[in-house]
Amino acid sequence: METKDLLAETFKFQGHICWASAMGTRVGLVALRELGVQRTGTSDELHCIVEIGDNHGAQCFVDGVQYSTGCTFGKGDIEKAGWGKLAIMLINKNKEQAIRVSYKPGRHKMIAESSFMSKRTQGVPPTQIPQEEAWEMVNMLWEAPESEVMKVGTVEPYPYEDFGEVMGLLPCANCGEMVSKMYLRVVGDNHMCIPCSGYGL
Ligand SMILES: [Zn+2]
Ligand SMILES: [Zn+2]
Repeated sequence: METKDLLAETFKFQGHICWASAMGTRVGLVALRELGVQRTGTSDELHCIVEIGDNHGAQCFVDGVQYSTGCTFGKGDIEKAGWGKLAIMLINKNKEQAIRVSYKPGRHKMIAESSFMSKRTQGVPPTQIPQEEAWEMVNMLWEAPESEVMKVGTVEPYPYEDFGEVMGLLPCANCGEMVSKMYLRVVGDNHMCIPCSGYGL
């Protein structure tokens, strides 16, 4: 896939066009390239630690990372460090190697002064800003020299312990909904989901 198409797909996936998701997409692609691996479709190849936190701007960065690397919330091969930073550690589990790539603010001022961002700071939702203005801003990062917009670490050894996954779902004796076996709780002679069991996590 052309990388520009990948970017358009990322925006479709996350629902709007923004600089943070574009940057995350690019950071993900560079991490894959440096590790010499492809975007993953399974949970046993890569693991990604993203350094964003909660309730802050530019978290969309991780939507880009998910789309370009294939490490996703559902497959469980992505986790959040919670440091409020736009950076990732991408781990090749089989080779036990990792690389850290972070956003470098070489064009941050340019982005902040774009017509898209000035509308955003005035409170206009991203979905209400014309697409051309969004792409204009995104291109500032997408077409920038790599060294200006990101810091690329070196591939380092990274011991990785894989806990694998427990297969199988069973119905809860009370609500009948399917539950991962690992999450069933024993209530008398029955097995129930956590909400039905009344137990805490
Ligand atoms: Zn966004
Ligand atoms: Zn239940």
